[in-house]
Amino acid sequence: MLNNKVISIVGAGISGLSCALKLAGSKLSKGYTIRIFENGERTGGRAHSIKVNDFSIDLGAGRFSPVLHPNVSKLVNELAEKTEVFPFTKIVCPHPQHNGLKEILAQLKPKIVSSYNESFFQFLCNHLGNEKSHAIINGLGYDSLYLPQISPEIAYDIIEKHPEIQCFSENAGYEWFNLVDGFAALVKSLYERAAILGVEFHFEHQLVSLQTKSNSTLLEFSGRDQQEIWHNSNYTVLALPPTAMASLDLDFPSHWSDFTYGSIPLFKGFIFFDHPWWQDYDLENKVTIIDNPLRKLYFKSDKYIFFYTDSAYADFWHEETKKSDAEYINTVMNLISMALNIPINELPWPVANKFKYWPSGVEFAIETSPEHPPVLSKNNGTIIAASDAYTPHCGWMEGGILAGRNAADYLLKQLEKTGVAEVEIN
Ligand SMILES: Cc1cc2nc3c(=O)[nH]c(=O)nc-3n(C[C@H](O)[C@H](O)[C@H](O)COP(=O)(O)OP(=O)(O)OC[C@H]3O[C@@H](n4cnc5c(N)ncnc54)[C@H](O)[C@@H]3O)c2cc1C
Repeated sequence: MLNNKVISIVGAGISGLSCALKLAGSKLSKGYTIRIFENGERTGGRAHSIKVNDFSIDLGAGRFSPVLHPNVSKLVNELAEKTEVFPFTKIVCPHPQHNGLKEILAQLKPKIVSSYNESFFQFLCNHLGNEKSHAIINGLGYDSLYLPQISPEIAYDIIEKHPEIQCFSENAGYEWFNLVDGFAALVKSLYERAAILGVEFHFEHQLVSLQTKSNSTLLEFSGRDQQEIWHNSNYTVLALPPTAMASLDLDFPSHWSDFTYGSIPLFKGFIFFDHPWWQDYDLENKVTIIDNPLRKLYFKSDKYIFFYTDSAYADFWHEETKKSDAEYINTVMNLISMALNIPINELPWPVANKFKYWPSGVEFAIETSPEHPPVLSKNNGTIIAASDAYTPHCGWMEGGILAGRNAADYLLKQLEKTGVAEVEIN
Protein backbone atom coordinates (compact mmCIF):
# COMPACT_ATOMS: atom_id res chain seq x y z
CA MET A 1 0.00 0.00 0.00
CA LEU A 2 1.31 3.45 -0.83
CA ASN A 3 1.83 5.60 2.30
CA ASN A 4 0.54 9.05 1.48
CA LYS A 5 0.68 10.43 5.02
CA VAL A 6 4.01 11.80 6.10
CA ILE A 7 5.87 12.39 9.35
CA SER A 8 8.88 14.65 8.77
CA ILE A 9 11.75 14.86 11.22
CA VAL A 10 14.19 17.70 10.66
CA GLY A 11 17.70 17.08 12.05
CA ALA A 12 19.55 13.75 12.03
CA GLY A 13 21.35 14.16 15.34
CA ILE A 14 20.77 11.71 18.19
CA SER A 15 17.42 13.46 18.96
CA GLY A 16 16.06 13.06 15.42
CA LEU A 17 17.28 9.46 15.13
CA SER A 18 15.87 8.48 18.54
CA CYS A 19 12.54 10.00 17.55
CA ALA A 20 12.48 8.19 14.19
CA LEU A 21 13.29 4.84 15.78
CA LYS A 22 10.57 5.10 18.39
CA LEU A 23 8.00 6.16 15.77
CA ALA A 24 9.04 3.50 13.28
CA GLY A 25 8.77 0.85 15.98
CA SER A 26 5.16 1.76 16.85
CA LYS A 27 2.10 0.30 15.13
CA LEU A 28 0.42 3.70 15.50
CA SER A 29 2.69 5.09 12.76
CA LYS A 30 1.58 2.39 10.29
CA GLY A 31 0.37 4.12 7.14
CA TYR A 32 2.84 6.97 7.54
CA THR A 33 6.08 7.49 5.68
CA ILE A 34 8.76 8.70 8.09
CA ARG A 35 11.31 11.04 6.53
CA ILE A 36 14.39 12.59 8.12
CA PHE A 37 15.74 15.77 6.55
CA GLU A 38 19.28 16.76 7.44
CA ASN A 39 21.18 19.88 6.53
CA GLY A 40 24.57 18.12 6.44
CA GLU A 41 25.88 15.10 4.59
CA ARG A 42 26.03 12.85 7.63
CA THR A 43 24.00 11.79 10.67
CA GLY A 44 25.05 12.64 14.21
CA GLY A 45 25.13 16.45 14.42
CA ARG A 46 27.28 17.26 17.45
CA ALA A 47 28.35 13.62 17.72
CA HIS A 48 31.10 13.61 15.10
CA SER A 49 34.05 11.21 15.02
CA ILE A 50 36.80 11.02 12.45
CA LYS A 51 39.87 8.80 11.97
CA VAL A 52 43.39 10.20 12.19
CA ASN A 53 46.43 7.87 12.01
CA ASP A 54 44.03 4.94 12.51
CA PHE A 55 42.70 6.40 15.80
CA SER A 56 39.05 7.43 16.10
CA ILE A 57 38.74 10.84 17.68
CA ASP A 58 35.57 12.50 18.89
CA LEU A 59 35.45 16.09 17.65
CA GLY A 60 32.13 16.49 19.48
CA ALA A 61 30.47 14.27 22.12
CA GLY A 62 33.03 11.90 23.55
CA ARG A 63 32.13 10.29 26.87
CA PHE A 64 29.32 8.93 29.02
CA SER A 65 28.73 7.76 32.55
CA PRO A 66 26.40 4.75 32.96
CA VAL A 67 25.09 6.25 36.22
CA LEU A 68 24.31 9.66 34.74
CA HIS A 69 23.45 8.47 31.23
CA PRO A 70 21.55 5.16 31.55
CA ASN A 71 19.88 5.43 28.13
CA VAL A 72 23.18 5.99 26.35
CA SER A 73 24.66 3.07 28.25
CA LYS A 74 21.73 0.81 27.38
CA LEU A 75 21.95 1.67 23.68
CA VAL A 76 25.71 1.12 23.67
CA ASN A 77 25.18 -2.36 25.17
CA GLU A 78 22.25 -3.22 22.90
CA LEU A 79 24.19 -2.25 19.80
CA ALA A 80 27.33 -4.00 21.12
CA GLU A 81 29.51 -0.93 20.60
CA LYS A 82 33.09 -1.40 21.82
CA THR A 83 33.81 0.77 24.87
CA GLU A 84 36.89 1.65 26.87
CA VAL A 85 37.34 3.47 30.16
CA PHE A 86 37.46 7.22 29.74
CA PRO A 87 40.22 7.66 32.28
CA PHE A 88 40.20 11.42 32.72
CA THR A 89 38.82 11.58 36.24
CA LYS A 90 42.18 12.07 37.94
CA ILE A 91 43.77 15.50 37.78
CA VAL A 92 47.56 15.66 37.72
CA CYS A 93 49.70 18.78 38.35
CA PRO A 94 47.00 20.09 40.71
CA HIS A 95 46.14 23.75 40.62
CA PRO A 96 46.83 25.54 43.96
CA GLN A 97 43.06 26.03 44.36
CA HIS A 98 42.31 22.31 44.24
CA ASN A 99 43.37 21.92 47.85
CA GLY A 100 40.22 21.83 50.01
CA LEU A 101 37.98 22.74 47.05
CA LYS A 102 35.63 19.78 47.53
CA GLU A 103 34.97 20.86 51.13
CA ILE A 104 34.49 24.54 50.17
CA LEU A 105 31.93 23.62 47.50
CA ALA A 106 30.11 21.24 49.85
CA GLN A 107 29.87 23.95 52.54
CA LEU A 108 28.51 26.52 50.06
CA LYS A 109 25.94 24.28 48.35
CA PRO A 110 23.21 24.57 51.05
CA LYS A 111 23.48 28.38 50.76
CA ILE A 112 22.05 28.41 47.24
CA VAL A 113 18.75 30.27 47.18
CA SER A 114 17.09 29.00 44.02
CA SER A 115 14.62 31.88 43.74
CA TYR A 116 17.44 34.41 43.88
CA ASN A 117 18.57 35.63 40.50
CA GLU A 118 22.35 35.51 40.79
CA SER A 119 25.11 33.87 38.80
CA PHE A 120 27.45 31.22 40.21
CA PHE A 121 30.31 33.71 40.03
CA GLN A 122 28.32 36.29 42.03
CA PHE A 123 27.35 33.57 44.47
CA LEU A 124 31.00 32.64 45.00
CA CYS A 125 32.03 36.31 45.28
CA ASN A 126 29.35 36.94 47.92
CA HIS A 127 30.75 34.16 50.07
CA LEU A 128 34.45 34.05 49.24
CA GLY A 129 35.37 37.38 47.68
CA ASN A 130 36.39 38.22 44.15
CA GLU A 131 39.97 36.97 44.10
CA LYS A 132 39.27 33.53 45.57
CA SER A 133 36.21 33.11 43.30
CA HIS A 134 38.32 33.81 40.20
CA ALA A 135 40.92 31.36 41.41
CA ILE A 136 38.32 28.65 42.05
CA ILE A 137 36.76 28.91 38.60
CA ASN A 138 40.23 28.96 37.07
CA GLY A 139 40.98 25.76 38.95
CA LEU A 140 37.77 24.10 37.72
CA GLY A 141 38.78 24.48 34.05
CA TYR A 142 35.26 25.14 32.70
CA ASP A 143 34.99 28.85 31.90
CA SER A 144 31.21 28.73 31.41
CA LEU A 145 31.17 28.85 35.22
CA TYR A 146 31.99 32.56 34.86
CA LEU A 147 28.98 33.36 32.67
CA PRO A 148 26.16 35.56 34.04
CA GLN A 149 23.51 33.07 32.83
CA ILE A 150 25.08 30.19 34.78
CA SER A 151 23.19 30.00 38.07
CA PRO A 152 24.64 28.28 41.14
CA GLU A 153 22.32 25.28 40.48
CA ILE A 154 23.57 24.89 36.91
CA ALA A 155 27.17 25.35 38.07
CA TYR A 156 26.92 22.60 40.69
CA ASP A 157 25.34 20.39 38.04
CA ILE A 158 28.33 21.07 35.77
CA ILE A 159 30.81 20.27 38.53
CA GLU A 160 29.01 17.09 39.61
CA LYS A 161 28.46 15.78 36.08
CA HIS A 162 31.81 16.30 34.33
CA PRO A 163 34.46 13.62 34.68
CA GLU A 164 37.45 15.95 35.07
CA ILE A 165 35.99 17.83 38.04
CA GLN A 166 33.54 15.37 39.60
CA CYS A 167 36.33 14.73 42.14
CA PHE A 168 35.27 18.03 43.76
CA SER A 169 31.77 16.64 44.37
CA GLU A 170 30.03 13.62 45.87
CA ASN A 171 30.17 11.95 42.45
CA ALA A 172 33.94 11.45 42.72
CA GLY A 173 33.73 7.70 42.11
CA TYR A 174 31.61 7.67 38.93
CA GLU A 175 33.06 5.69 36.05
CA TRP A 176 33.12 7.11 32.52
CA PHE A 177 33.52 5.43 29.15
CA ASN A 178 34.10 6.35 25.55
CA LEU A 179 33.46 4.36 22.39
CA VAL A 180 36.56 2.84 20.77
CA ASP A 181 35.19 3.79 17.33
CA GLY A 182 33.85 7.14 18.54
CA PHE A 183 30.28 8.26 19.24
CA ALA A 184 29.63 8.35 15.48
CA ALA A 185 29.67 4.52 15.56
CA LEU A 186 26.61 4.55 17.84
CA VAL A 187 24.86 7.07 15.62
CA LYS A 188 25.69 5.01 12.51
CA SER A 189 24.12 1.93 14.10
CA LEU A 190 20.96 3.92 14.88
CA TYR A 191 20.88 5.22 11.32
CA GLU A 192 21.20 1.68 9.91
CA ARG A 193 18.45 0.45 12.24
CA ALA A 194 16.14 3.26 11.17
CA ALA A 195 16.85 2.64 7.48
CA ILE A 196 16.00 -1.07 7.93
CA LEU A 197 12.70 -0.03 9.52
CA GLY A 198 11.92 1.99 6.40
CA VAL A 199 12.80 5.52 7.55
CA GLU A 200 13.76 7.65 4.51
CA PHE A 201 16.85 9.88 4.80
CA HIS A 202 17.26 13.09 2.82
CA PHE A 203 20.69 14.67 3.32
CA GLU A 204 21.73 18.16 2.20
CA HIS A 205 18.23 19.43 2.97
CA GLN A 206 18.33 22.61 5.01
CA LEU A 207 14.94 23.60 6.34
CA VAL A 208 14.42 27.29 5.57
CA SER A 209 10.72 27.83 6.21
CA LEU A 210 7.46 26.23 7.26
CA GLN A 211 4.01 27.17 6.03
CA THR A 212 1.10 25.78 7.95
CA LYS A 213 -2.01 24.76 6.04
CA SER A 214 -5.31 23.45 7.46
CA ASN A 215 -4.24 19.82 7.92
CA SER A 216 -0.61 19.79 6.87
CA THR A 217 2.61 21.80 6.79
CA LEU A 218 4.60 22.76 3.74
CA LEU A 219 8.33 22.52 4.41
CA GLU A 220 10.73 24.50 2.25
CA PHE A 221 14.31 23.24 2.03
CA SER A 222 17.42 24.56 0.43
CA GLY A 223 19.19 21.63 -1.24
CA ARG A 224 22.55 21.23 -2.90
CA ASP A 225 23.41 24.36 -4.96
CA GLN A 226 20.62 26.27 -3.19
CA GLN A 227 18.01 24.27 -5.04
CA GLU A 228 14.51 24.91 -3.61
CA ILE A 229 12.77 21.72 -2.48
CA TRP A 230 9.25 21.47 -1.07
CA HIS A 231 7.71 18.67 0.97
CA ASN A 232 4.25 18.31 2.48
CA SER A 233 4.08 16.92 5.96
CA ASN A 234 1.20 15.86 8.22
CA TYR A 235 3.29 15.88 11.38
CA THR A 236 6.66 17.59 11.72
CA VAL A 237 9.28 17.12 14.42
CA LEU A 238 11.96 19.79 14.54
CA ALA A 239 14.79 17.89 16.26
CA LEU A 240 16.89 21.02 16.31
CA PRO A 241 18.71 22.87 19.09
CA PRO A 242 17.38 26.31 20.11
CA THR A 243 19.97 28.25 18.04
CA ALA A 244 18.93 26.37 14.87
CA MET A 245 15.27 27.04 15.73
CA ALA A 246 15.99 30.74 16.24
CA SER A 247 17.72 31.02 12.85
CA LEU A 248 14.48 29.91 11.13
CA ASP A 249 11.62 32.31 10.59
CA LEU A 250 9.51 30.72 13.34
CA ASP A 251 9.39 33.41 16.05
CA PHE A 252 11.38 31.14 18.31
CA PRO A 253 11.39 31.19 21.28
CA SER A 254 8.82 33.97 21.86
CA HIS A 255 5.89 32.16 20.14
CA TRP A 256 6.86 28.73 21.43
CA SER A 257 8.01 28.90 24.99
CA ASP A 258 8.06 30.96 28.18
CA PHE A 259 11.71 30.01 28.56
CA THR A 260 14.81 31.63 27.12
CA TYR A 261 17.84 29.77 25.87
CA GLY A 262 21.58 30.16 25.90
CA SER A 263 24.49 28.44 24.22
CA ILE A 264 28.21 28.13 24.82
CA PRO A 265 30.95 27.67 22.22
CA LEU A 266 33.30 24.69 22.55
CA PHE A 267 36.67 23.90 21.01
CA LYS A 268 38.64 20.64 20.91
CA GLY A 269 42.21 20.47 19.62
CA PHE A 270 43.97 17.13 18.94
CA ILE A 271 47.74 16.83 18.46
CA PHE A 272 49.60 13.78 17.20
CA PHE A 273 53.29 12.96 17.66
CA ASP A 274 55.55 10.26 16.26
CA HIS A 275 56.07 8.85 19.75
CA PRO A 276 54.19 9.13 23.09
CA TRP A 277 56.77 11.36 24.84
CA TRP A 278 54.32 12.11 27.68
CA GLN A 279 54.81 8.55 28.98
CA ASP A 280 58.28 9.66 30.14
CA TYR A 281 56.53 12.19 32.39
CA ASP A 282 53.99 9.69 33.77
CA LEU A 283 51.11 11.58 32.14
CA GLU A 284 49.50 8.71 30.22
CA ASN A 285 45.68 8.66 30.61
CA LYS A 286 45.75 11.71 32.86
CA VAL A 287 44.22 15.17 32.61
CA THR A 288 45.55 18.45 33.88
CA ILE A 289 43.69 21.73 34.44
CA ILE A 290 45.78 24.69 33.44
CA ASP A 291 45.75 28.40 34.11
CA ASN A 292 46.40 29.16 30.43
CA PRO A 293 44.27 29.06 27.26
CA LEU A 294 44.60 25.26 26.92
CA ARG A 295 42.51 24.95 30.14
CA LYS A 296 42.16 21.14 30.10
CA LEU A 297 44.91 18.99 28.62
CA TYR A 298 44.40 15.23 28.18
CA PHE A 299 47.04 12.57 27.47
CA LYS A 300 45.19 9.76 25.68
CA SER A 301 47.06 6.47 26.30
CA ASP A 302 50.01 6.24 23.89
CA LYS A 303 47.93 7.73 21.06
CA TYR A 304 47.61 11.53 21.17
CA ILE A 305 47.09 14.66 23.28
CA PHE A 306 44.02 16.85 23.18
CA PHE A 307 42.80 20.00 24.84
CA TYR A 308 39.22 21.08 25.43
CA THR A 309 37.97 24.60 26.12
CA ASP A 310 34.65 26.40 26.37
CA SER A 311 33.28 29.96 26.28
CA ALA A 312 35.88 32.72 25.85
CA TYR A 313 38.78 30.31 25.34
CA ALA A 314 36.86 28.38 22.69
CA ASP A 315 36.51 31.69 20.83
CA PHE A 316 40.20 32.40 21.49
CA TRP A 317 41.20 29.13 19.77
CA HIS A 318 38.78 29.75 16.95
CA GLU A 319 40.67 32.99 16.24
CA GLU A 320 44.05 31.23 16.57
CA THR A 321 43.09 28.64 13.97
CA LYS A 322 42.41 31.41 11.46
CA LYS A 323 46.19 32.05 11.47
CA SER A 324 48.60 29.69 9.69
CA ASP A 325 48.83 26.07 10.85
CA ALA A 326 52.44 26.70 11.95
CA GLU A 327 51.43 29.69 14.11
CA TYR A 328 48.57 27.76 15.68
CA ILE A 329 50.79 24.77 16.53
CA ASN A 330 53.50 27.09 17.82
CA THR A 331 51.00 28.66 20.25
CA VAL A 332 49.75 25.24 21.36
CA MET A 333 53.27 23.87 21.93
CA ASN A 334 54.43 26.95 23.83
CA LEU A 335 51.41 26.68 26.11
CA ILE A 336 52.02 22.93 26.66
CA SER A 337 55.65 23.70 27.51
CA MET A 338 54.55 26.34 30.04
CA ALA A 339 51.83 24.13 31.52
CA LEU A 340 54.13 21.16 32.07
CA ASN A 341 57.19 23.22 32.85
CA ILE A 342 59.20 21.46 30.16
CA PRO A 343 61.49 23.61 27.97
CA ILE A 344 60.01 23.93 24.49
CA ASN A 345 63.20 22.62 22.86
CA GLU A 346 62.78 19.37 24.81
CA LEU A 347 59.34 18.72 23.33
CA PRO A 348 58.99 16.93 19.99
CA TRP A 349 57.05 18.71 17.25
CA PRO A 350 53.59 17.36 16.26
CA VAL A 351 53.23 15.34 13.07
CA ALA A 352 49.52 16.07 12.63
CA ASN A 353 46.68 17.96 14.24
CA LYS A 354 42.91 18.31 14.02
CA PHE A 355 40.54 20.70 15.71
CA LYS A 356 36.89 21.59 15.76
CA TYR A 357 35.15 24.75 16.90
CA TRP A 358 31.45 24.48 17.78
CA PRO A 359 29.91 27.99 17.95
CA SER A 360 26.93 26.58 19.92
CA GLY A 361 28.42 23.43 21.40
CA VAL A 362 26.15 23.32 24.46
CA GLU A 363 22.58 24.60 24.40
CA PHE A 364 20.41 25.05 27.45
CA ALA A 365 17.31 26.67 28.93
CA ILE A 366 18.42 29.58 31.10
CA GLU A 367 15.56 29.32 33.61
CA THR A 368 16.02 26.27 35.79
CA SER A 369 12.60 26.50 37.38
CA PRO A 370 9.75 25.77 36.84
CA GLU A 371 10.45 22.61 34.87
CA HIS A 372 10.71 22.93 31.13
CA PRO A 373 8.06 21.01 29.13
CA PRO A 374 9.63 17.94 27.46
CA VAL A 375 8.62 19.16 23.98
CA LEU A 376 7.36 22.42 22.50
CA SER A 377 4.48 22.32 20.04
CA LYS A 378 2.47 24.45 17.64
CA ASN A 379 -0.43 24.11 15.28
CA ASN A 380 -2.57 21.74 17.37
CA GLY A 381 0.41 19.56 18.14
CA THR A 382 1.27 18.84 14.49
CA ILE A 383 4.58 20.71 14.72
CA ILE A 384 6.79 19.57 17.58
CA ALA A 385 10.20 20.86 18.63
CA ALA A 386 12.60 18.64 20.58
CA SER A 387 16.09 19.21 21.87
CA ASP A 388 18.40 18.01 24.63
CA ALA A 389 18.20 21.65 25.81
CA TYR A 390 14.63 21.00 27.00
CA THR A 391 15.59 18.05 29.18
CA PRO A 392 17.40 17.81 32.52
CA HIS A 393 20.35 16.41 30.50
CA CYS A 394 21.05 19.45 28.34
CA GLY A 395 24.48 19.27 26.73
CA TRP A 396 24.50 15.47 26.77
CA MET A 397 23.61 12.68 24.35
CA GLU A 398 21.36 11.33 27.11
CA GLY A 399 19.28 14.50 26.73
CA GLY A 400 19.14 13.99 22.95
CA ILE A 401 17.82 10.43 23.33
CA LEU A 402 15.20 11.58 25.85
CA ALA A 403 14.23 14.56 23.68
CA GLY A 404 13.71 12.38 20.59
CA ARG A 405 11.69 9.82 22.51
CA ASN A 406 9.62 12.54 24.21
CA ALA A 407 8.75 13.98 20.80
CA ALA A 408 7.81 10.52 19.52
CA ASP A 409 5.60 9.86 22.58
CA TYR A 410 3.87 13.21 22.10
CA LEU A 411 3.28 12.52 18.41
CA LEU A 412 2.09 8.96 19.01
CA LYS A 413 -0.55 10.35 21.38
CA GLN A 414 -1.72 12.63 18.55
CA LEU A 415 -1.85 9.65 16.20
CA GLU A 416 -3.79 7.63 18.74
CA LYS A 417 -6.38 10.43 19.03
CA THR A 418 -6.55 10.83 15.25
CA GLY A 419 -6.93 7.08 14.82
CA VAL A 420 -9.87 7.03 17.26
CA ALA A 421 -11.43 10.02 15.49
CA GLU A 422 -11.06 8.33 12.08
CA VAL A 423 -12.68 5.15 13.38
CA GLU A 424 -15.54 7.17 14.89
CA ILE A 425 -16.12 9.02 11.58
CA ASN A 426 -16.07 5.74 9.61
C1 LIG B 1 32.57 19.53 21.67
C2 LIG B 1 31.38 18.81 22.25
C3 LIG B 1 31.58 17.88 23.24
C4 LIG B 1 30.50 17.19 23.77
N1 LIG B 1 30.75 16.22 24.69
C5 LIG B 1 29.76 15.39 25.05
C6 LIG B 1 30.05 14.22 25.79
O1 LIG B 1 31.20 13.94 26.12
N2 LIG B 1 29.02 13.39 26.11
C7 LIG B 1 27.73 13.66 25.74
O2 LIG B 1 26.84 12.87 26.07
N3 LIG B 1 27.43 14.78 25.01
C8 LIG B 1 28.41 15.63 24.66
N4 LIG B 1 28.13 16.71 23.86
C9 LIG B 1 26.73 17.08 23.61
C10 LIG B 1 26.05 16.21 22.55
O3 LIG B 1 26.84 16.19 21.39
C11 LIG B 1 24.68 16.82 22.25
O4 LIG B 1 23.93 16.88 23.45
C12 LIG B 1 23.88 15.95 21.25
O5 LIG B 1 24.66 15.62 20.14
C13 LIG B 1 22.64 16.74 20.84
O6 LIG B 1 21.97 16.03 19.84
P1 LIG B 1 20.76 16.69 19.03
O7 LIG B 1 20.31 15.69 18.06
O8 LIG B 1 19.75 17.20 20.01
O9 LIG B 1 21.36 17.97 18.33
P2 LIG B 1 22.49 18.04 17.22
O10 LIG B 1 23.49 16.98 17.42
O11 LIG B 1 22.95 19.44 17.20
O12 LIG B 1 21.71 17.69 15.88
C14 LIG B 1 20.92 18.63 15.19
C15 LIG B 1 20.99 18.28 13.70
O13 LIG B 1 20.13 19.19 13.01
C16 LIG B 1 20.78 19.60 11.81
N5 LIG B 1 20.19 20.90 11.44
C17 LIG B 1 20.35 22.11 12.04
N6 LIG B 1 19.63 23.07 11.41
C18 LIG B 1 18.99 22.44 10.38
C19 LIG B 1 18.09 22.89 9.38
N7 LIG B 1 17.68 24.16 9.29
N8 LIG B 1 17.63 21.99 8.46
C20 LIG B 1 18.01 20.69 8.52
N9 LIG B 1 18.86 20.21 9.48
C21 LIG B 1 19.34 21.07 10.39
C22 LIG B 1 22.24 19.68 12.19
O14 LIG B 1 23.06 19.58 11.03
C23 LIG B 1 22.38 18.47 13.11
O15 LIG B 1 22.74 17.30 12.40
C24 LIG B 1 29.19 17.45 23.32
C25 LIG B 1 28.98 18.40 22.32
C26 LIG B 1 30.06 19.06 21.78
C27 LIG B 1 29.83 20.05 20.68
